Amino acid sequence: MARVLVVEDEPDIAELVCLHLTTMGHTAVHEADGLDALARARGGGFGLIILDLNLPRMDGLDICRTLRADDDPTPILMLTSRTGEIDRVLGLELGADDYLTKPFSVRELMARVKAQLRRAALYAPSAPAVAAPPERAPLAVLDLMIDPERRQVRRGDAALELTAREFDLLLFFARHPGRVYSRSQLLDEVWGTGYAGYDHTVNSHINRLRAKLEPDPQRPRYVLTVWGVGYKFAEG
Ligand code: CA
Repeated sequence: MARVLVVEDEPDIAELVCLHLTTMGHTAVHEADGLDALARARGGGFGLIILDLNLPRMDGLDICRTLRADDDPTPILMLTSRTGEIDRVLGLELGADDYLTKPFSVRELMARVKAQLRRAALYAPSAPAVAAPPERAPLAVLDLMIDPERRQVRRGDAALELTAREFDLLLFFARHPGRVYSRSQLLDEVWGTGYAGYDHTVNSHINRLRAKLEPDPQRPRYVLTVWGVGYKFAEG
């Protein structure tokens, strides 16, 4: 979900655009004045700028040109009125990413917004990995201690002997307690998307994992069956 700057001096259009952005789950920030809009855009933090052409004090073309001269790569969707082709072409030459001619349908606007945000996400530099979870740190779940580094599972003093796949399955479950996974999701996540497996592959591995893990495999405490859906790992 993105912060979107809506620069539009016609209150009805601005309200409509902001309302639909909010409905889509985005945060809309509105400016009606060209110079205010430029200052706001330069403050940064927007995933998209929806920019009207004719605005008080500074028009959309100048705003667009100025932002691009700043090397600001924020996608810009221009709104033009039906005054002719020149404005549209100019808008694109100035570095706008797309344009819509007024009057536009809400559906059309939202499709363009989605397309621009998707494009921006594709080309955005990936976030630094500082916040990544410690993949190799030992994991304590229920009364189990799972050590990804050594690929060992202990309950108290007792080590559980698991095959590589059983270990991967347990580790995956333990990292997502309470989440329900279908058999085909587990195949994708644990065996890998390229694996041409069958649902019964998952069933038989879970049965073997339970036989080693569960004090009473007939009444599992760790890996629980969710009837008609798949499996989940017990919470807390
Ligand atoms: Ca206008």
